[in-house]
Amino acid sequence: MVQNDDVEVKLSELKDLTLRAVCNCGFETDQAAIIAEVLLWAQVRSNSQGVIKIPAGAVAKASDAGQPVVESDSPISAHINGHKQYGMLMMQLATTHAISKASAGGIGIIGFYNTASSTGALGYFAEQIANKDLIGIVLAQSPEAVAPQGSTEAVFGTNPIAVGVPTASGAPLIIDLATSAVAWYDLVEAQAAGKPVDANVGYNSSGRPTTSPSAILEGGALQTFDRGSKGSALSLLFELLGGAWPGGAVTGKLASGNWGNLVVAIQPGVLGGVDAFKQRVSELCARVKSARPAPGVPEVLLPGERSSRLAAQRTAAGSVPISNRLLSQLRKAADALGTGQVVQQSDVQRQPGSELSLATRLTHPEFWNDDPYNATAPPMYQTSTFRQLSAVDCGPYDYTRSGNPTRTQLERQMAEIEGADRAFAFASGMAALSAVLRLCVAGDHVVAGDDLYGGTSRLLEQVAPTLGLTVSNVDTTNIAAVKAAIVPGKTKLVMLESPTNPRMQICDIKPLCALAREAGATSVVDNSILAPTFQQPLALGADICMTSATKFIGGHADLTAGILAVKGAALAQRIAFVQNAEGAFLAPFECWLALRGLQTMALRMERQATTAGLLAEFLVAHPLVRKVNFPGLPGHPGHDINVRQATSGGSLLSFETGSVEASRIIVEQTKLFKVTVSFGSVSSLISLPCYMSHASIPAALRASRGLPDDLVRISAGIEDPKDLLADLRQAMQKAVHATGENGHAPGAVGAQGTGPAKQQAVPSTAAVLAPAAALP
Ligand SMILES: *Cc1c(COP(=O)(O)O)cnc(C)c1O
Repeated sequence: MVQNDDVEVKLSELKDLTLRAVCNCGFETDQAAIIAEVLLWAQVRSNSQGVIKIPAGAVAKASDAGQPVVESDSPISAHINGHKQYGMLMMQLATTHAISKASAGGIGIIGFYNTASSTGALGYFAEQIANKDLIGIVLAQSPEAVAPQGSTEAVFGTNPIAVGVPTASGAPLIIDLATSAVAWYDLVEAQAAGKPVDANVGYNSSGRPTTSPSAILEGGALQTFDRGSKGSALSLLFELLGGAWPGGAVTGKLASGNWGNLVVAIQPGVLGGVDAFKQRVSELCARVKSARPAPGVPEVLLPGERSSRLAAQRTAAGSVPISNRLLSQLRKAADALGTGQVVQQSDVQRQPGSELSLATRLTHPEFWNDDPYNATAPPMYQTSTFRQLSAVDCGPYDYTRSGNPTRTQLERQMAEIEGADRAFAFASGMAALSAVLRLCVAGDHVVAGDDLYGGTSRLLEQVAPTLGLTVSNVDTTNIAAVKAAIVPGKTKLVMLESPTNPRMQICDIKPLCALAREAGATSVVDNSILAPTFQQPLALGADICMTSATKFIGGHADLTAGILAVKGAALAQRIAFVQNAEGAFLAPFECWLALRGLQTMALRMERQATTAGLLAEFLVAHPLVRKVNFPGLPGHPGHDINVRQATSGGSLLSFETGSVEASRIIVEQTKLFKVTVSFGSVSSLISLPCYMSHASIPAALRASRGLPDDLVRISAGIEDPKDLLADLRQAMQKAVHATGENGHAPGAVGAQGTGPAKQQAVPSTAAVLAPAAALP
């Protein structure tokens, strides 16, 4: 396929760029030289394991990579623990060992395990062995991708194998193939190009045949190359030899990060003369070449013949065609300017292991965007479509619902902050929670708290049943109650909030998530109130952390957004699918606002939390107040648990006065506290949840859950706390005057000296306090 933007680049320049780019991925010069050579070997052959791996993020040094250790050694074998060392480097090490053992003792069997990264084109290593007049066999294990015959579930890797055989006629014969219907990377390329694959290549996550590469990649499975029992048997065999034998994981390969690899070198001379063998190989190859071609076929080709011809031509010419886009990505990676996927260093140099605090990391975000000008603020890609490079090559982005660089920036940054494998930005917190419900199918059961955000409560009461789900609401401060509510095999989702909203109850996240895991259910923690600044639920064992970015991440009451931070690649793929399929993703401008908000999030939240503590102390001492709900107070029932699992009580608090009338007067007579729903804004907010954010919960249900109508909720802002205290004091004074000691209103209250927005006289409670029909 001719690509309209292909350019010829000199091999020497490509080599230099590749080398520098690999060095910028964190490798030493000598390691980079090996990796660059593996990549270029594939590149000149137009093999998909070429330099595209650099912008695709497949060339990366694991932060926990250690020195490989030979755990057992014999004259004919070595067993090596790869200690997460990069796959191509391990393959080269194993190949060198195998050659020297086979040269000395007839055979060299090298197996290594405990690596989880790309080994590159296996033909490169098989060829090295064959060039030494040895037979080379190279196998690489990879994560679950291929379904066994009779199944539609991914179990086997794509199981590539390469065999190199010396010949008498010069270049060795290289057989390099995968046992899957298509190679994994071809699938990734088809996805990027927006091209369907053949009809009989793979299944989607529900086991139906599909031509969509995304559906196969997102929880589906590939078929074997023959779609039959022989391919399945070979897959099993290669999985056993290349994976199980050297000690790779045989199940949970993706999660364990332990893939096995095998390199075998054999001296053909052990069964007679080397030269005689090479002669027979050449004879056989010549016989294949001379076989009568089928009608319309100009020439019978040997395995690898087409690609080795390409390599020879390009090497002779000293140049190779490459897409303009890939070349510019490579140039940027070489100059460390960043590419579509390669991390661009921020101005704070991140040493592996250096533990910068969150506030610092938030102000120095890493950039993943493709910006050529080194902008210090993330560029906003306000576009729905991306022009394709050719009809079949669309580059990393094609359509904003499927992906947008501004959203990538936000999602990567959130994943980093939350310690997640991936994060996803949705149009609102509710859209995010709704995507979580999509993990369930009709008949599944959900366990959730009984003091939930109003919108979540409505989702579970009124939307979940239409999906065929049943929901149990339990007191999540009571671990035994949660345990009793979980139905093993049926409960698929456990949804928690801590603190709860608006009663600020604390649940013990760690044991609750462990309970969910034991029962095979996915745990979700709504972390909107403490946000990642103060609490990181994934580190406590949650599978998914939801944050309404409308609150503290946006921070200025100008954004509606929700984030799901997800642990585990398989779960992340399911969420990615829902985000793209249902389309409730966050638009570029909103992503940009969230990115802007993140930079000051820690600073704002720390100030807000300090102020909330001062307000809580004031309220506790006030005669009109019956009860203050604030986890930052030592007397709060969940205080100790909160200290264990979070670094602050946050900036949201609620209190009861015993009188709806007194509460209403306080809410309306403050001047600096805006009467609004929501929280987390730079300005202080005050509300009556039962008439505002939680009005969608029926009154009887509110009463049964102990959510009193007189509850006042405050969200502390970043104003000077002295001003806020004075304002709250005067409002409470008015409530005392208006209602007397017992909190009953003698009549309307004049509003002398109140702020401009609140100057009207206050009518009686009953007249104004008709609960709102619906949530905003
Ligand atoms: C606000 C909020 C939500 C919903 O988020 P939106 O962005 O408003 O859709 C969910 N959970 C909690 C705890 C919230 O405070």
